[in-house]
Amino acid sequence: MGIDDVRSAIARRTDVHLDWLRTLCRIPGVSSRRYGIDASVQAIRQLIEEIGGKVQVLQMADANPVIFAEFDGDGERTLLFYNHYDIQPAEPLDEWTVPPFEGVVEAGLFYARGAADNKGDLVSRLAAIDAWRQARGRLPCRVKFLIEGEEEIGSPSLPDYLRTYRDLFQADACIWKYGNRDPAGRLEVGLGLKGLLYVELEVEIASSDLHSGYGALVEAASNRLVRALATLRDGRGQVLIPGFYDVVRPPGSEVRASLEALPFEDEILRARYGIRRFLRDRIRTGALATLLLEPTCTFCGIESGHTGEGMRTILPKQAKAKVEFRLVPDQDPEVLVRQLRHHLDMKGFPDVQIRVLATQRPHQTPINHEFVDTVKRAAEEETGREVVLYPTLQYSGRMYELAEYLRLPVVSVGVGYWDRRAHAPNENIRLADFDETVRLMARLLQMFGEEG
Ligand SMILES: [Zn+2]
Repeated sequence: MGIDDVRSAIARRTDVHLDWLRTLCRIPGVSSRRYGIDASVQAIRQLIEEIGGKVQVLQMADANPVIFAEFDGDGERTLLFYNHYDIQPAEPLDEWTVPPFEGVVEAGLFYARGAADNKGDLVSRLAAIDAWRQARGRLPCRVKFLIEGEEEIGSPSLPDYLRTYRDLFQADACIWKYGNRDPAGRLEVGLGLKGLLYVELEVEIASSDLHSGYGALVEAASNRLVRALATLRDGRGQVLIPGFYDVVRPPGSEVRASLEALPFEDEILRARYGIRRFLRDRIRTGALATLLLEPTCTFCGIESGHTGEGMRTILPKQAKAKVEFRLVPDQDPEVLVRQLRHHLDMKGFPDVQIRVLATQRPHQTPINHEFVDTVKRAAEEETGREVVLYPTLQYSGRMYELAEYLRLPVVSVGVGYWDRRAHAPNENIRLADFDETVRLMARLLQMFGEEG
């Protein structure tokens, strides 16, 4: 059965749906500052109840609440949407060309902090549900929402929520919070995320800074930390910690084949960021395989001694570095912490302290899972364009816990595009993408219900 009546409802209700998005974007909830959380939760609760969903606000100690919502529908199957209501701060404010919390529409773009990450996605899904209810009075499948409020600080409480409320969240498949379109307009459907270990390394060599004349006798903390860091990774990007690659699974033939089919505009990437060269001079498919399938070790920041104008002849007492590892299946961040400790000790740096700031495990939904096919077909049929499957993306998130605790496939698709400027000034979505995604989600609900 066709869904022209649902599409008509979407077209008729576009202004209402954009008003919902504008309302949510006017209420900033910044998790890193514990600001605006209650107001964000109440606004979303009210919106979902208005559309006919049942809402429970779940609250665990020392955590931002999770919004759980449920919509009744035909059939036995349940689709779970994962989203978040928290946002990044809007600073630097003077780099925005429009006010960040008003939802200004200009030349087909909707601007607001949180529009692309992640309220546009949340509203597109609610809009699809609304259109079904407007057109038919009910949904073609059951739907649940898990909307968390700590995504922008690494989702520290999500594993606990998932363990505690496992039965409540139970579903047959999950749509991850976002998805993009590439510069050629192709919709990117993502099936996985890398894991993450983010640590702070710190070394202290004295109780105060010294005159650098003592350099012949005392090793500066800065020298010492840089030497320790240099043992972690070589110039080709290979991580030198023993055991690091032991459990890395080589990609299966399906994943390798999917990479061959993926577009990768290395020249666009180079030009956009002014990148001088890629590691190992990778290009095209080789660059893409490296980007998506290889683990990383990046020194995100190094701090020590005098870095201001001119010279100061000091020997710094202390040095710190933020070091990030992006992990691939089946690497485990907890194991890596122990390997890192052992490695530093063996290299003569037992005094370099490790403080763990975040851990996330990698995850990939199998590319041949039937739900992947359902999402791909819904997207292709509704957009009329080519859809590209990414076996994994280069980013991280708590996909592992969602997939493993709830035992379901997780697929990423949404309203974004390559220049959505998430986390940056002038964050935006394209109105045409929003509209297309609402239709895509409406179609997916139908196919998911019918194929159960
Ligand atoms: Zn974000």
